[in-house]
Amino acid sequence: MSATRDRDIQIDDRGNAYVLHKGTKVFIADDGESEAADGVICALASDSAFSDNILTVCAGCGVDICHRPYAPETPPKVCLRCAVARILERQEVRS
Ligand SMILES: [Zn+2]
Repeated sequence: MSATRDRDIQIDDRGNAYVLHKGTKVFIADDGESEAADGVICALASDSAFSDNILTVCAGCGVDICHRPYAPETPPKVCLRCAVARILERQEVRS
């Protein structure tokens, strides 16, 4: 296990890697797995921090968003608001 000041990286028995950040466990996917993701959470285009960001529109609501050029191609690109809504919908289905 590798550790930094407030983050830890753990690898489970199957070889899956996770980063632990302030109590939240996040799965680290490789390129193939990221292409199978349900979506890519993108920043608003007005918040773009890099001149080479790709500009597009949210697949959920149509707002202008941006992502890095190397983001997975297959998953729909969504804004943070739509991503949170999808996550909350799934949590309601499970409970
Ligand atoms: Zn949206």
